[in-house]
Amino acid sequence: MSTNPTIAIVGSGPIGSTYARLLVEGIPGARVIMFEAGPQLTDRPGESVRNIPDPADKARAREMSQGPQSGAYREALGIPAGTVTEGMFTARQGTHLFDFGGPGSAHAATFPAAAAATNVGGQGAHWTCATPSPAFSEKIPFIDDAEWEDLIASAKELLHVQGAAFADSGVGAAIRSLLAEEFGDELPEGYGVGTLPVAGDPQPDGSMRWAGADVVLGPLIDPASPLSRRFELRDLTLVRRVETAGNRTTGVTVENLRTGVSSFVEADVVVVAADAFRSPQLLWASGIRPAALGRYLTEHPVVISTVALDAEKMERFASEADLEAELKRRSQNPADPVAAVNRIPFSEPDHPFSVQVMYSETTPFPMPEDAPFSKNRWGYVNMGYGLRKHPRFEDGVTFDDNEPDYRGFPNMTISYALTERENAEIEDATARLRRAGNALGVFVAEPRLMPNGSSLHYQGTMRMGQSDDGTSVADPWSRVWGYGNLVVGGNALIPTATAMNPTLMSVAIAVRGARRIAAELGAVEASREDAVHAGA
Ligand code: FAD
Repeated sequence: MSTNPTIAIVGSGPIGSTYARLLVEGIPGARVIMFEAGPQLTDRPGESVRNIPDPADKARAREMSQGPQSGAYREALGIPAGTVTEGMFTARQGTHLFDFGGPGSAHAATFPAAAAATNVGGQGAHWTCATPSPAFSEKIPFIDDAEWEDLIASAKELLHVQGAAFADSGVGAAIRSLLAEEFGDELPEGYGVGTLPVAGDPQPDGSMRWAGADVVLGPLIDPASPLSRRFELRDLTLVRRVETAGNRTTGVTVENLRTGVSSFVEADVVVVAADAFRSPQLLWASGIRPAALGRYLTEHPVVISTVALDAEKMERFASEADLEAELKRRSQNPADPVAAVNRIPFSEPDHPFSVQVMYSETTPFPMPEDAPFSKNRWGYVNMGYGLRKHPRFEDGVTFDDNEPDYRGFPNMTISYALTERENAEIEDATARLRRAGNALGVFVAEPRLMPNGSSLHYQGTMRMGQSDDGTSVADPWSRVWGYGNLVVGGNALIPTATAMNPTLMSVAIAVRGARRIAAELGAVEASREDAVHAGA
């Protein structure tokens, strides 16, 4: 090991940033180099683009994140100028489809909405910031509850999670009251209708400053902090290969996308946190191919709808003044889609769904002026039921060494199917969504199941396990089985069937992995310092 350990991190999203923060803070002398394939979007690295006030600047930041579909950085990313950009489904702003339909596109006919973001901060620069905690069987069975609570508490701190955001909204409270009337008796104590925890910092004017990888990196990107001197972020730098010798990684081979020059960077530990498709792809390309790599893909099937809030119903619990106050707050940042957001959390056995209910003064789609409920005075809610997908070996991504993708990596084919088990839960969720809608008002968009891949919460493709039995890629501390100094991170580690937004859980898993590395490398450092002092 070199004098001061070097840690190479692949990917600058919330998970790579968690490792960076905890390893710089936790290991005296350690140096962290973070490699990010995409460009830096904001002056403060990794900031949520939702905080950008100017709509044109915000749109440009989103376009720069769209990898193969990006106009602005197409040349820098090495994407052929003629690449066809439209697939069958439009990816969410800031993301790009894997199966985009042009040369080098992945094959994902059964998972068509699979998407990624390629920019500093990763998807965490675009996310909605919903941060519920996993519960019941969503949790990892081999981490005990006391440790788990501690990991979640640390994850909440890193992500600036607020438990009661928008709790002061009268409109939000009325929506909760109506939903509680409908469902309250069926939900267990502690798992009823409530506000949705979100990651961000409330501002004095009532708006939010949304959290991105920037808040996770914290002092590492503050030039006034001495910790920042041991952290380096290289954007537009693509990690081509994780290099290994025997059962250790020795570092990474990287390509500077500005110059096209490749080089080897030696590292004592490599952390791969490059999302649930591109991380397994990078391992595969590096010859690291555990049997479970890319398999057991899960996500959240999502049933969504939009409802016009009924004035008579709302007025039972909220006043005109509440509505005025809500509209005033919304007008401060009308481009921000998140306001007065409520939820019904996952609970077992009777409510295996994570329900999100977002208030909005407009619909997310244009409505003709003369359509019924267009310009509805009390506004609308966009509601979604998130469901479980039960893990199966046959759902997943495979890689073809003989077919390079647009970046020159072994191309991906994603195969995925819902089974009778999911279909039964989808039917149940749809019926409940109808009840929720009728309790609140009138549907202006009927409940519908989104195409596979729409959740953006891809899990299981590098799942963690208790033993190396071929059904997992990583050990309980996120180290790839057989490689003591190669760590993987992200939603791909989650081995369970979950219904909730996964980032908080993945940060908690990363905290555990980082603490283990810090304990091991920190101990080596401490004993070296002792030896130096003893010799002095
Ligand atoms: P990412 O954030 O995806 O970052 C991975 C990074 O790795 C990317 O920047 C990528 O460019 C980089 N990379 C890939 N390959 C390489 C390579 N070879 N070399 C160098 N760099 C590489 N989650 C929630 O929990 N709640 C939500 O409300 C929520 N809403 C969302 C809304 C939207 C619109 C989107 C897009 C996502 C949302 N998510 C949400 C998902 C959330 O953003 C992700 O769970 C989270 O960002 C995952 O973090 P990560 O660090 O593992 O990966």
